[in-house]
Amino acid sequence: MSTNGPYILVLNCGSSSIKFAIIAPSTGETPLKGLVENLFTASGRLTYEAQGEKIKSTLPAKADHTQALQLIVEILNQFKQLKGQLVAVGHRVVHGGEFFAESALINEAVIQAIHKTSNMAPLHNPANLAGIRSAQLAFPLLPQVAVFDTAFFQTLPKEAFLYALPYSLYEAHGVRKYGFHGTSHYFVSHKAAQMLNKEYEECNLISAHLGNGCSIAAIKHGRAVDTSMGFTPLEGLVMGTRSGDMDPSLPSYMIEQLGYSAADVNSILNKESGLKGISGLSNDCRELEAQAKLGNEQAQLALDMFCYRLVKYIGAYMAVVGTLDALIFTGGIGENSAYVRSKVVSQLYHLGLVIDEALNDEMRFGRSGGIHQPASLPVLAIATKEEWVIAQDSARFAK
Ligand code: ADP
Repeated sequence: MSTNGPYILVLNCGSSSIKFAIIAPSTGETPLKGLVENLFTASGRLTYEAQGEKIKSTLPAKADHTQALQLIVEILNQFKQLKGQLVAVGHRVVHGGEFFAESALINEAVIQAIHKTSNMAPLHNPANLAGIRSAQLAFPLLPQVAVFDTAFFQTLPKEAFLYALPYSLYEAHGVRKYGFHGTSHYFVSHKAAQMLNKEYEECNLISAHLGNGCSIAAIKHGRAVDTSMGFTPLEGLVMGTRSGDMDPSLPSYMIEQLGYSAADVNSILNKESGLKGISGLSNDCRELEAQAKLGNEQAQLALDMFCYRLVKYIGAYMAVVGTLDALIFTGGIGENSAYVRSKVVSQLYHLGLVIDEALNDEMRFGRSGGIHQPASLPVLAIATKEEWVIAQDSARFAK
């Protein structure tokens, strides 16, 4: 087992899953990483990989975050040398509200603030808190650090983050755009500045994170000035199963005229829409590309709508950031789908973006690089590393 520590234990507790990894903050080396899936069901499972070896096991029925964390600690106990080099635990926390513009060393006040924000992220923040509590018990001597998905977007100006609703909704209830995927946009935008050989503070960038969830960020002079996700991660782009933007009167129409319950509507917009809803097939971009090639019209329509919405946002954000230094693609689709990148960029020809198809075809499987022609504004595909950002930020608080 490698001994290139110090290391950070990174925990990403989702509503029914936990991703965990041990990462060297200086290099990103990841000697151990794993995934717990299907919490609260009869088919919970845990898989992890330590230096090339993959191990699978099952969880007790209906296991919760605390039980899963106990198993993770047992696994770490088998790797004493690694565990002995841990200097902090970094927690991904989805919603930091307006409390956190940067990562924070966790204490009771921070826990209370995360708790207060839970009503805006009811599936995620309670899971994050469960992870924090368990890790505090398991690693009482290590600093615990919260790294927020929303923090990167606390620089948005009011004109961008407010909805045109009665101002009292913002003042009394915090109704505003928060933005998500902040650690990913942070990582790829800084990486882009390096690749462009330019000071980050001088860069005007647009980054599109396209995974199951999708968001796009406008970054002007190194500050986030707009983003497509909003009060929740539902707003904006077409996503795997989420609708993104639509007429805000549709939910009340579906409830009052079509007889759906509010819970139905919430579930439809979050779980049955997007690529999956339009295609009627799948939320998996790979499958839709394959089906579209075979002539499936619904699969083609889903991809067309996905790309069209993205093109509209890129055009809008080009107006917002001024002279563009680079358009960035990241996330599972952004890093791997030459088809989506080509289809999007080819619709931006008149704005000075021209793809190099040969470079574009080569760019996948964790590679990062330019995919544009010499006369074009830069278009970059960059492999995101959210966990590494969490490790780096957490290391700042290690003694
Ligand atoms: P998450 O948001 O859950 O982290 P990912 O960032 O892993 O998701 O992205 C998942 C998406 O990436 C899926 O739609 C998947 O089809 C897509 N994807 C992964 N590899 C490819 C590929 N080679 N070509 C096209 N799409 C891909």
